[in-house]
Amino acid sequence: MKIYDILILGGGASSLMCASHLKSSLDIAIIDNNPKPASKVKISGGGKCNITNVEVSVNNFDGEVDLVNHALQTYSKEDLLGFLEKNQIEPEIRKNRYYFCRKSSDEIINALKRNSCHAEYILNTSVNEVKKINDTFEVNTSRGVFKAKKLVVATGGKSYKTLGATEIGLDIAKSFGIKVKEFSPALVGMTLQPAQFWMKELSGLSCYVHITVEEKLLKEEMLFAHKGISGPCILSASLYWKKGNMSINFLPEENIFKLISGSKKLLSSVIPLPKRLSKALLEAIGVKDIECKKISKEMREKLACIHNYEFAPAGNFGFTKAEVSRGGVLGKELEEKTLESMQVEGLYFIGEVVDVTGELGGYNFQWAFSSAVVCASALNKVNL
Ligand SMILES: Cc1cc2nc3c(=O)[nH]c(=O)nc-3n(C[C@H](O)[C@H](O)[C@H](O)COP(=O)(O)OP(=O)(O)OC[C@H]3O[C@@H](n4cnc5c(N)ncnc54)[C@H](O)[C@@H]3O)c2cc1C
Repeated sequence: MKIYDILILGGGASSLMCASHLKSSLDIAIIDNNPKPASKVKISGGGKCNITNVEVSVNNFDGEVDLVNHALQTYSKEDLLGFLEKNQIEPEIRKNRYYFCRKSSDEIINALKRNSCHAEYILNTSVNEVKKINDTFEVNTSRGVFKAKKLVVATGGKSYKTLGATEIGLDIAKSFGIKVKEFSPALVGMTLQPAQFWMKELSGLSCYVHITVEEKLLKEEMLFAHKGISGPCILSASLYWKKGNMSINFLPEENIFKLISGSKKLLSSVIPLPKRLSKALLEAIGVKDIECKKISKEMREKLACIHNYEFAPAGNFGFTKAEVSRGGVLGKELEEKTLESMQVEGLYFIGEVVDVTGELGGYNFQWAFSSAVVCASALNKVNL
């Protein structure tokens, strides 16, 4: 039976970038359970793929700092932009921050496919189990056994099952005794406790806020939804939230006491938020919508909550809605400079299956691509 030099399990963002950077003289195959590769890239960023961000640093990621740092140094945002340029992709920058494909995610998918055309694609094939016999990996799939000298696990996270997501990456790691953190939904909308159900009544409204969660300060839009709260700021907050309180500053660029000072208008009229939100927010913090001048000392104290509305979400919308999965193969189980398992020679983990998760804004593709290049560079140096 044929023994490949390298088998890459999963045919998503990290897999294709890894194959793109592997020497074309190597005998490589990519196994994926979908009929086409890169199914998550296809739908990402509303079909236009938020590839990376103007500002990328280790602070934008939840995970082992040294691992992330090394990956970002090996393949930085600038390197990624260079790859795009080389492939005639001219991304657009939205909100002065986010790099998106101009026309569609197909621009980057096609570039990745072109650059990885020396790899064989084995599609519509589910990976069930991996064994290592002597120095050879045996991959048990729905289409029989495939063998390889080196194995790269790039099977992503658990969210969006409809796109082929499974937990096989963690199962493989566990079967070799490699420690993992179980997946949990992240970059996901949050559900509310009854005390915050007032927010559901505002479904469809959005506003710019600052959110403080677990000592992280996040600045973006939040969206009120009929199931709870969502929008970029909430999605990023979900990455850091650990069951406790978080705090919303609904007027991050104003001072409520300056706004009301000396005004004869109603409170809800001077608060620069959509009227429905101002009224609901005042009611929620126990302040009557009266003339600004008539506000008592006690009400002033309550009014300060507009800058610091503290509450504990009930939970989140779950894996079906989560953009990513937090958790994965623990960073300390992997060689920082290669992403090879410390325990199993020749076994590598890249992308979302590793316990590194980025904030919203292109950080998860940046990690997928950076970790892929770390691994490919290491494999190119191995004698196969
Ligand atoms: C709706 C949505 C929008 C997103 N938008 C963005 C965005 O704009 N910017 C951003 O940075 N991130 C975004 N993300 C996150 C991003 O898509 C992922 O972090 C990224 O794709 C991870 O790359 P990966 O290679 O690790 O995994 P994936 O790209 O998920 O690839 C893993 C592959 O492995 C395959 N696979 C899994 N199990 C098996 C098995 N048992 N057998 C065979 N194959 C298997 C899967 O089908 C998949 O094709 C978004 C995610 C979602 C769900």
